[in-house]
Amino acid sequence: MGRVPGYICPVCERDVEQAAGCLDEPIELRGQTYRPLPFQGPEERCPGCNVLRGNVHHLDCERELCPRCKEPLNGCLCRMSEAEAAEVERLRGG
Ligand SMILES: [Zn+2]
Ligand SMILES: [Zn+2]
Ligand SMILES: [Zn+2]
Repeated sequence: MGRVPGYICPVCERDVEQAAGCLDEPIELRGQTYRPLPFQGPEERCPGCNVLRGNVHHLDCERELCPRCKEPLNGCLCRMSEAEAAEVERLRGG
């Protein structure tokens, strides 16, 4: 997401310039429920979505890490089904 003044996160419906963080709502990955990983710094505010350190990222922040594989959530395959992920890995040649 681009950080635009006045942007309202669709998850928490807060202005990302003002909000300390997003909702700490469990996310489901591969049939298991995980707690979202909060932003850990080193910056005081996330360069991607502006949350304060220790708070949960807003929707689709490029700095959010997947609580299942600890890779960037945007690039990981955990939100896909196992069959979809296997297909992507096959296309990647992995
Ligand atoms: Zn963020
Ligand atoms: Zn939010
Ligand atoms: Zn993952």
